Amino acid sequence: MLRLPRFRYVSPPTVTDALGARFELGDDTMYVAGGTDLYPNMKRRQQTPSSVISLAGISSLREIHSSPELGLRVGAGVTLSQLAADPVVRRHYPAVATAAGLVSTPPLRNMGTIGGNLLLDTRCNYYDQTYEWRKAIDFCMKKDGRICWVAPSSPRCWAVQSSDGAPVAVALGAAVMLASGGGVRRVPAEELYHNDGIRFLNKRPDELLVWYLLPPVGAWRASYVKLRRRGSFDFPVLGVAARVDFLPDGTVRDARIVLGGVAHKPWRVPAAERRLIGSRLDASAIDDAARAAVDGAQPVRDNAFKVPLAQRAVARAIRTAAG
Ligand SMILES: Cc1cc2nc3c(=O)[nH]c(=O)nc-3n(C[C@H](O)[C@H](O)[C@H](O)COP(=O)(O)OP(=O)(O)OC[C@H]3O[C@@H](n4cnc5c(N)ncnc54)[C@H](O)[C@@H]3O)c2cc1C
Ligand code: SF4
Repeated sequence: MLRLPRFRYVSPPTVTDALGARFELGDDTMYVAGGTDLYPNMKRRQQTPSSVISLAGISSLREIHSSPELGLRVGAGVTLSQLAADPVVRRHYPAVATAAGLVSTPPLRNMGTIGGNLLLDTRCNYYDQTYEWRKAIDFCMKKDGRICWVAPSSPRCWAVQSSDGAPVAVALGAAVMLASGGGVRRVPAEELYHNDGIRFLNKRPDELLVWYLLPPVGAWRASYVKLRRRGSFDFPVLGVAARVDFLPDGTVRDARIVLGGVAHKPWRVPAAERRLIGSRLDASAIDDAARAAVDGAQPVRDNAFKVPLAQRAVARAIRTAAG
C-alpha cells in the first residue's frame, strides 16, 4: 500500500485565511481541493509539499452565480458532480456539464473539483509510477532526474495535458480569477496553459484559483467529445471541445476547436476553425475542418493511432455543437 508522507495540514475557513496561511507557511506548501490528483501524486512522491492548505472548508468556493451580462461564475471548489448536475450548467453550458460528468468515476467526481481539474498535473506513463518504480529506471527530468524516458535524446519533457475540463474552458473562451497576497487577476483560460510538460501553468504557486468564469449565453453552441480506453473511467486519450458562434442567418461567425490529450496544453487548431467560418456547417465544411485539424500532426512514438481518431472526433464534436 502506498502511504502519504508526513505533512502539515491546515483547513482555513475563508479565502483570505487561506492566502494568509500560504504566506505564513511559505513556498513548500500546496493547496488541495478534492485531493484526487494531489494525494496520489504525494503518495508517489511526485509532489512533496511539507504543508498542505485544504480548500474544503471554504464555503464561498462552492457557490455558483449566474448573470445574463457576465455569464456564469463558478467557485473553484464546486465538485465535478455538482457541476455535471447543475440545471443552469446543463441547459446553457452542456459542454461543461458533459466534460465534468465524463471525468473518472462517481466517487472521484464527488470529491474532485473544477479548480483542481483545470490545474491538473500533466501526465506521462513513466512519471505516473511509484517512487520505487521511477527510482529503478532512474528518475526523469519532471521530478528528480535529468533524462526524458519518452524521448531520451530530447531536452524537454513530453508530459501531456489530460484534463477533461481544460479544453472546454479554452474553447468556450472562459477565464479564471486567481487570488494572491498581491490582489486578484483575471486570466483567460487560453493563457492559463504553457506548452511545457513541466511548467505547464501560467500561475504562481501562491495563487489561489477562486472563480471559473463562463461567458454569457448567446448565439453560440459548444460540445465536448472524449475518447478513452475504458469507458467506465479513464483519463482522455483524446478530448475535443468545439464552440461555434452563429450569425442571425445561421452562417458561422466564429469557431474554436481545441484538442486535449495531445500536447502539453489544450491545443487550438486555427486551420480547422477557419474552415468553418462563413460556412453553414454543411457536411463538406465539417469534413474539411476535421481534415485540417490533423493536417501536419506529429505524434510521438506509439501515438500515431490518435491521428485518424482525432479527425473523426473533431467531426463528431462539430456536429454535436451544431445540434
Ligand atoms: C483514477 C483516476 C482517474 C481520473 N480520471 C480523470 C479523467 O478522466 N479526467 C480528468 O480530467 N481528471 C481525472 N482524474 C484527475 C482528478 O480526479 C480530476 O481532474 C479532479 O477534478 C481534480 O480535482 P481535485 O479537486 O481533486 O484536485 P486536487 O487533487 O485537490 O488538486 C489538483 C491540483 O490543483 C491544485 N489546486 C486545486 N484547487 C486549487 C485552487 N482552487 N487554487 C489553486 N490550486 C488548486 C492542487 O494544488 C494540485 O496541484 C483522475 C484521477 C484519478 C485518481
Ligand atoms: S515526458 Fe516528461 S514525465 Fe515523461 S519521462 Fe519524459 S520528462 Fe519524464
